Amino acid sequence: MERTLAILKPDCVKANLIGKVIDRILDANFKIIAMKMITLTPQTAGAFYAVHQQRPFYYDLVDFMSSGSCVPLVLEKEHAVANFRNLIGATDPAEAAKGTIRKEFASNKQRNIVHGSDSVENAAIEISFFFSAQELVSLSR
Ligand code: UDP
Ligand code: MG
Repeated sequence: MERTLAILKPDCVKANLIGKVIDRILDANFKIIAMKMITLTPQTAGAFYAVHQQRPFYYDLVDFMSSGSCVPLVLEKEHAVANFRNLIGATDPAEAAKGTIRKEFASNKQRNIVHGSDSVENAAIEISFFFSAQELVSLSR
């Protein structure tokens, strides 16, 4: 079983879409291993997206991600990373495939509702950014 990190971004929370998006995730047979609601500071949002530091959209992205609460989740499924990227669709909702979460709910390339890790290696790093080992539940409970 593989794990990935999802974040329901501030646009998702503000539009009262947490339930609808989580429904889509559960309908796609992901198991929720951990979940919390937090508000990122510009510093923590900047650290999470540090890989994009040199990109022109970086400061706007940091502003957006620290503009309200967000909901990070750890999801488990076979091939969770690739599978979840398929479920959310392309970064820009205009380019996202029909039926994907971003196609259905996102406003634009920045305010695109949800984050998903892009590799198994980054998923492990991103999961530990938000969650301690103690916060990851055992599914056998
Ligand atoms: N982003 C943006 N403008 C761009 C590209 C990305 O505002 O031109 C934002 C968007 O919120 C995206 C995030 O930066 O989800 C991270 O970008 P990435 O290329 O990693 O896209 P993702 O992996 O989220 O599809
Ligand atoms: Mg990415």
